[in-house]
Amino acid sequence: MRTAEIRSRFLDFFAERGHTVVPSAPLPTPDPTLLFVNAGMVPFKPYLTGESAPPWPRATSVQKCVRTLDIEEVGRTTRHGSFFQMSGNFSFGDYFKPEAVALAWELATSPVADGGLGLDPDRIWVTVHRTDAETRELWRRTAGLPDERIVARGDEDNFWSMGVPGPCGPCSELYYDRGPHLGRAGGPAVDEDRYMEFWNLVFMSHERGEGGGKSGYPILGELPRPNIDTGMGLERMATLLQGVDNLYETDELRPILDRAAALAGVRYGADREADVSLRVVADHVRTALMLLADGTTPGNEGRGYVLRRILRRAVRAMRQLGYAEPALPALLPVARDRMADGYPELARALTYDRIADQAHGEEEAFRATLRQGTTVLDTAVADLKAHGGRTLAGAQAFRLHDTYGFPIDLTLEMAAEQGVEVDRDGFAALMRDQRERAREDARARKSGTTHGSSGLRPVLEAHGPTEWLAWETLQTTS
Ligand code: ATP
Ligand code: MG
Ligand code: MG
Ligand code: MG
Repeated sequence: MRTAEIRSRFLDFFAERGHTVVPSAPLPTPDPTLLFVNAGMVPFKPYLTGESAPPWPRATSVQKCVRTLDIEEVGRTTRHGSFFQMSGNFSFGDYFKPEAVALAWELATSPVADGGLGLDPDRIWVTVHRTDAETRELWRRTAGLPDERIVARGDEDNFWSMGVPGPCGPCSELYYDRGPHLGRAGGPAVDEDRYMEFWNLVFMSHERGEGGGKSGYPILGELPRPNIDTGMGLERMATLLQGVDNLYETDELRPILDRAAALAGVRYGADREADVSLRVVADHVRTALMLLADGTTPGNEGRGYVLRRILRRAVRAMRQLGYAEPALPALLPVARDRMADGYPELARALTYDRIADQAHGEEEAFRATLRQGTTVLDTAVADLKAHGGRTLAGAQAFRLHDTYGFPIDLTLEMAAEQGVEVDRDGFAALMRDQRERAREDARARKSGTTHGSSGLRPVLEAHGPTEWLAWETLQTTS
C-alpha cells in the first residue's frame, strides 16, 4: 500500500467517525519552545492546555514533522526520518481511553477490503504504563491481546507530559513484530528493530506542577475533561505494509535513494557504509525540500541553520559515495514527484523553482567551500607527512574552520581518509580563545574603545566585506 493511500485511509477512517480533518500546519512553528513542529499535537496545544476553546470535539490530521534530535539516527536505524508525517486522532475532552484503544485497533487490523490497514493482529504487541491497569484491561477485552503481549513500562517510556506545568498522562504504544530474521524474540523491550513502534496513544488525564526534580514533578490533579492525542508514523506504517526493511526503502524515499545510487554508480546493498550514505541522501533531500517549501531558507542560525546542515550533510554524503558533481538538481525533482501527491503545492512551477534555486545555490556555495578547503588541507597534510608527522596541528584545523568554513568533523574525516589525526584539544583551545576575544570585543565596543577591530578598517575599505563562514559554531537544535 502506497504512503499516499495510508494517508487517505487514516483520514477517511477518522472522518467517518466524527473527526474533523485538519490540514497539516507548516513546519516552522510559532511555538517558542520549538524550531519546527515535531509531533501531531503541536498545532493543537492551546486546545489541550485549555488556553483556547477547541473548535471541534474531535480532529484528525497528517502533520509534517521535523525532529532534529533524530538527524544523527538517520540511515543507521531502520525507522528514523529527519522529516516524517505523523497521522493522529485527537479528542478534546470528548472520548477517552476505551474509544482511543478501540479505534486504533480497528484501523490497524481491519482487512484492507474494509478500509483498514490489514495488520496481522497476532503480531501486534503493546506497552502500557505499569500503573495503568485500565488500559491493560482494554487491550485484553477490546483487542483480545494475551497478557504476554502487553508489556508494562515505567515513567521513562510510558509517561508523557507537555511541559511544566501542563497536561500529562500515561501512554500506550503499538509495536509490530516484523519477524525473527530481524532480531531476538521477547517483545519491544528486547529488540526495537524486530518490534517496530508504529503508534503512540497518549491519555492526557492529569495536570503536572512545577518543582520536585526531573521526574518527580507533583501531579496537581486530574483534568476535568481528559484529552486523547495519538501519533501514527506514516512512514513506519508504509515500511510494515510494503514489506521493506526500513523507512528509506518506502515509496516516497526509495526513488531518491535509487537516483543517488545511479548518479554515484554504486549498488544499494553492496556496502554497509555506502548504504548509510544513500539512506542519508534520500532522507535529507526530502527534508530539505519540505523545509524549503514551507519557507525556511538556509542560514547561520536557528531554523536556517538546521536546513543548511541538512543540505550540507546530503552533499557530503554524495561525496562520500564518490560523486563530486552537483547532485541536488538531479535529486530534488525526484523527491518533489514523490511528495506532490500529498502536497500539491510542490508541483507548482513558481514554488518549485524557488525551492530549486535556493537548494542549488546552497550546494554551489558549499562545493566552493569544499574545493578551497580541500586544497588547503591536502597541502597541510602533504607538508606534515614530508616532515614525518602524523597529527595535524590544531591551528591548521582552526584555520580551515575560521577561514574556509570547514566544520571540524569534516576536517577530522578528511584527515582520517589520508591517514592522519588532528590535534582536537589544540583546535578546541583556539576556538575558546576566539570566543573570548569576541566577548572582549563586544565589551570594548560597548565602552567605546574599539581597539579590537579598528585595525581591520583599511582592509575592509580596500577589499569590501567578506562572507562569514564560521557557521558551525552557531549550532542550534530543537
Ligand atoms: P522511537 O522510540 O522509535 O524513536 P518515539 O517514541 O520517539 O519513536 P513518538 O514521539 O511516540 O515516537 O511519536 C509517535 C509516532 O511517530 C511513533 O510511534 C512513530 O510511528 C512516529 N515517529 C516518531 N519519530 C519518528 C521518526 N524520526 N521518523 C519516522 N517516524 C517517527
Ligand atoms: Mg524517538
Ligand atoms: Mg518510542
Ligand atoms: Mg513513542
